[in-house]
Amino acid sequence: MQTNFTAEQLADPHVATSETILRKCVHCGFCTATCPTYVTLGNELDSPRGRIYLIKDMLENGRPADEQVVTHIDRCLSCLSCMTTCPSGVDYMHLVDHARMHIENTYRRPFWDRLTRNLLAAVLPYPRRFRLALRAAALGRPFAGVFKRVKGLEPFAAMLALAPRHVPKPSPSARPGTHPATGAKRGRVAILSGCAQPVLKPEINDATIRLLTRLGVEVVAPAGEVCCGSLVHHMGREEQALEAARRNVDVWLREVEHGGLDAIIITASGCGTTIKDYGFMLRLDPAYAEKAARVSVLAKDVTEYLATLDLPQQETKRVTVTYHSACSMQHGQKITTLPKTLLKNAGFIVRDPAEGHLCCGSAGTYNIMQPEISEKLKARKVKNLEATKPDVIATGNIGCITQIATGTEVPILHTVELLDWAYGGVKPAGLA
Ligand code: SF4
Ligand code: SF4
Repeated sequence: MQTNFTAEQLADPHVATSETILRKCVHCGFCTATCPTYVTLGNELDSPRGRIYLIKDMLENGRPADEQVVTHIDRCLSCLSCMTTCPSGVDYMHLVDHARMHIENTYRRPFWDRLTRNLLAAVLPYPRRFRLALRAAALGRPFAGVFKRVKGLEPFAAMLALAPRHVPKPSPSARPGTHPATGAKRGRVAILSGCAQPVLKPEINDATIRLLTRLGVEVVAPAGEVCCGSLVHHMGREEQALEAARRNVDVWLREVEHGGLDAIIITASGCGTTIKDYGFMLRLDPAYAEKAARVSVLAKDVTEYLATLDLPQQETKRVTVTYHSACSMQHGQKITTLPKTLLKNAGFIVRDPAEGHLCCGSAGTYNIMQPEISEKLKARKVKNLEATKPDVIATGNIGCITQIATGTEVPILHTVELLDWAYGGVKPAGLA
């Protein structure tokens, strides 16, 4: 694609990066077929190619974002399915990240939209606040129907629908500390405690720590770690995201220097995609660029790390698992077969759903901010998953677990909970 940026515009490193990305797009449109919003809405402006044109036009003309651009960029799930499909290697992720930053800096959103975003950014990354908010949701639940009918308040209805009725007690695994290896030590890793996950499903990191320590790996939960920054990053709040990234980089590199780390283990693929991108996010910060790149190399999804441990083949379990590959896992991190291979080796019968490339509609806070599209995608996903007649659905991202669980009676677990069970741990509570 030809671009017409001035030398002055290209002096801005963000614009220079976006220009390089834009030039790679040949407008072939292959990406439209696999874009969940285009498939759902059928509007070219809700396709990757349409959004690329909108972003190009806005940046090239140095214009502040307008309502049209915001509408169509907000509808993008950042699922990155388009990146998997694109034959030209267009880096849509970094382009849309830049567009979101530009929107945040140049566009004043309507009052309720601003309020919802401020609320989400002030609550979700902080486990204590999030826990309190979930408890408060019980008081708001009777008003969900009213919120759903009032324009601008739909996100509050979506929040109430997603809030679990029972909030589990905090797990000791979420506290900083070291979990020693059982028997001979064969490795040492840090685990990302996370922000929403330890509140909603502490059993995921519990299972990870049990499994890894049984396999001879020491697991440290370092003090001082914060939310990975993904949530605010996807809202275009770059400074807040970079601050979180810098803090985590310092925390993890301190561990590298003190006890050594083979990996930083991440059990939510949404967070994994962001942490693996810290090197890029902090590339313009001379004090952190190199350190962040080191952290990104150390970041591993738990299944990537488990695959290096040569787990033995287990006896067949007669449990059928349908694997839902989170977008951040398959498109963001390009981890596709590994989790399924681990589950098969662990003795499970593994099935793939139809349209596995399509997003379930969770996408961070998308299911709150865009509830209508999100509901359609969830219904489509659940139909495809249930058609495989599974005993249990497995996935590697808390967002997908929360989203899909509100649409089906089939239990849904994190892959690592099943692996922990198969390799000597307890049967997950979610399985009858
Ligand atoms: S598939 Fe790639 S090159 Fe083709 S229109 Fe989409 S982003 Fe552009
Ligand atoms: S990230 Fe997903 S929703 Fe956004 S344009 Fe690409 S395929 Fe479509």
